[in-house]
Amino acid sequence: MTYDPLISRGVSSMLPAPKSYWHATHKVPSVPPLNKKINTEYLVIGGGYTGLSAAITLAQAKQDVTLLDANSLGFGCAGRNGGFILSGSGRLSLSAIEEKWSHKVAMGMQGEFDGAVDLLKKRITDFNMQVDLVDGPYLKLAHNVKQAEQLCASANRLASNFNVPSTPLSSKDLTTRFGIKGVYGGVELEGACLHPLKLASEYARAAKELGAALFYDSPAICIEKQKSGFLVTTPNGSVSAKHILVATNAYTPKRFHDSVDNKQFPVQSSIFVTAPLNDEQRALTGLTTPVSFMDTRMMKYYYRVLPDGRLLFGGRGAVKGKDANNATEKQRLYNAMIKSFPALKGIAMDYFWSGWVSVSLDSMPRIFVESETSGNSVKRDANSIGYAMGYCGSGVSFAAFAGQRLAQRMMGTSEVDLSLPIYQSPLKTYPFSKARRLALHGLYQWAKIAER
Ligand SMILES: Cc1cc2nc3c(=O)[nH]c(=O)nc-3n(C[C@H](O)[C@H](O)[C@H](O)COP(=O)(O)OP(=O)(O)OC[C@H]3O[C@@H](n4cnc5c(N)ncnc54)[C@H](O)[C@@H]3O)c2cc1C
Repeated sequence: MTYDPLISRGVSSMLPAPKSYWHATHKVPSVPPLNKKINTEYLVIGGGYTGLSAAITLAQAKQDVTLLDANSLGFGCAGRNGGFILSGSGRLSLSAIEEKWSHKVAMGMQGEFDGAVDLLKKRITDFNMQVDLVDGPYLKLAHNVKQAEQLCASANRLASNFNVPSTPLSSKDLTTRFGIKGVYGGVELEGACLHPLKLASEYARAAKELGAALFYDSPAICIEKQKSGFLVTTPNGSVSAKHILVATNAYTPKRFHDSVDNKQFPVQSSIFVTAPLNDEQRALTGLTTPVSFMDTRMMKYYYRVLPDGRLLFGGRGAVKGKDANNATEKQRLYNAMIKSFPALKGIAMDYFWSGWVSVSLDSMPRIFVESETSGNSVKRDANSIGYAMGYCGSGVSFAAFAGQRLAQRMMGTSEVDLSLPIYQSPLKTYPFSKARRLALHGLYQWAKIAER
């Protein structure tokens, strides 16, 4: 049974944890469910990176904070992602942001993206988090001449216009420096990787140590506005809260709350992990060092070698949740891997899983508070509801940063530059929401032909 945010009524606590490599190599701590009525100042709904980070920020500010998650730790993207730490979120390049708004906005956004990586690394150090952090470059690879030219131009623009360290690579550079053959060029950016589920466990530990009350296997079924604050019901308890932070991202149920309903498009991404590569396979593929890769095919594929020598390979998943584990979906992704690494033909696929990423209509995430007054602060006595979501598949660092920003915004701290577009307006509502999947199916069919 797979959770499908556009069809299922909500995340049930009975759904099994994903059969991911991350779950196979790390046992998450069990956190008890909510079995009573409680009161809290701030209620965070959703216990992935966004929610846990918001809880950490609120607890660090000595606020009374409670967090509910519908399932076990890491049920959402936190237990399913590739673990690539990238400086960025959403799907717009800095040049596109500059074109749409201004150079100042693009620089402001880059500041937030870099701030997200810094926050993640600072917390890893401050809380002594054991998350298998590995630094290594992030390479974007071009599979035709045109893409190679575009990548080279964008690398030069990133460095000169936005001060982002980025180095264009020729196909010869790629072969001599990284042992990569068969691509037309690329770009080297800064990168790092970690074990995403261990990160979720460590965030939960930090939040608990700071005094946040965490409850898992406790889906918020209903959010009711009361005279003063909100009443949130779970199967065996309820929470009266003054403020609510919605951190359910792509796992947000179909009809949950007006502020988030139809505001994002959950799209599946799938990953498989191979058996460990032998020395010959490593030498033939160039997969010998901790490098993260993304290629520039229309349907982007991402991959990295794991610390135990396996290859993690990811890309788009099935359109519908019920098809997530179909043999054809697995084969399609496997074939894409063989196209990049013919030497791996026949290698076993030891793990396969999928997860939902939250795609916003304008390709930008939002951190937004509904009942906020204008200016840089919230009414201290107002009952506010806010959310952070829409990271478009890029949230290992940014989701936690967005959770921090959401908490800061709810508390009315002045650290958030509210002039940036991600804080200025709510997520846009999808028109013709029922046609979203049809359009996605059409796009995938077209890409299949274009990529032949
Ligand atoms: C296959 C895949 C690969 C990815 N790879 C990368 C990568 O390499 N690098 C990168 O930067 N990003 C990656 N991402 C994206 C990244 O994982 C996400 O952006 C990020 O984890 C989002 O964090 P979150 O806390 O907002 O959401 P989630 O971790 O999904 O948490 C949402 C939580 O809300 C809970 N919830 C839902 N409904 C309710 C309810 N009613 N009551 C209570 N709780 C509820 C869910 O149980 C879930 O735990 C990937 C995503 C996927 C799916």
